[in-house]
Amino acid sequence: MELAPQTGPNELRKGQPVNAEIIDYHAHIAYKVDIEPFVRKARELGVAMAVNACGPWWGGDDNDAVEAAARRFPDTIIPVGFVALGRGGGPETVEDLHRRGFKGLKMIAPVKDYDDHDYFPVYAKAEELGMPILFHTGVVARGDVWLKRLEEEGRPVPPHDDPREWNMSSRRMEPMCVDGIARAFPDLNCVMAHFGSTGRRDVCEGLIRWNPNLYADMTSYGWAIELDDSRKGWHIEQKHVDYFLQFLRPMRIHQLADKLIYGTDVNTSNDLRLYEATIASHKAIYEACGIGEEGRRKMSRDTAARLLGLD
Ligand SMILES: [Zn+2]
Repeated sequence: MELAPQTGPNELRKGQPVNAEIIDYHAHIAYKVDIEPFVRKARELGVAMAVNACGPWWGGDDNDAVEAAARRFPDTIIPVGFVALGRGGGPETVEDLHRRGFKGLKMIAPVKDYDDHDYFPVYAKAEELGMPILFHTGVVARGDVWLKRLEEEGRPVPPHDDPREWNMSSRRMEPMCVDGIARAFPDLNCVMAHFGSTGRRDVCEGLIRWNPNLYADMTSYGWAIELDDSRKGWHIEQKHVDYFLQFLRPMRIHQLADKLIYGTDVNTSNDLRLYEATIASHKAIYEACGIGEEGRRKMSRDTAARLLGLD
């Protein structure tokens, strides 16, 4: 059964969702997997999802699929376009995505460092058009391993080149590589993915404190949970909450609520229970870190809405 778009009076301002209580800034569209179950779950949870494609390397679909999903579910899907740095994506790609209604951009797997001057025309165009950029930062999952697993499980695998030729390295996506971009393009808002997880702690914290146009997403904090063996439910696991607190408390993240953004890194082929559980996980962690109501509102929705031009 087709899920009809919800078009209540406050739902579609500037053609995109604003009344969701939560905006998930970091979601991925899986290759040839129907997005409808995810949309249904997101609506039930009061979530609008900023969905990106990020190349075929991790089983993702492309910008056309993101655009189609956003047209089909405009109240729930906020389209974020992928620009393949050094792999054919340029300022004209940014222009095209903007014209098609994409609200933000995603960067991952550049051929050179993110802050290489070859890519500056792309950033200049994004700045000019007011499109924030979500940068993957830190160690990235092995795409070849990922695709092999999809293949073994008989799930859809996007067409791709020989992994040996991918020319990919996590080093080019170190958080520090975003610093030079934030400084050279002060009107461009940049979001570093995966704040505070391994290899992205003190550097990320310093960068978002000093750069007014630099933010980070909280994609690592959905894991203070355990899925129940029955495959039906989930629960918050206090020892996981404590693990996150060990490094979040010394970083005094309650002072950074203006610069941190809710995100899940979910893939639209994932277990729907995880999507629900991740919200509770964030809530438990924010509470334990002493983040107040106003801070939580900014982190969960308001900052993302402002960056994506939805409010
Ligand atoms: Zn991601």
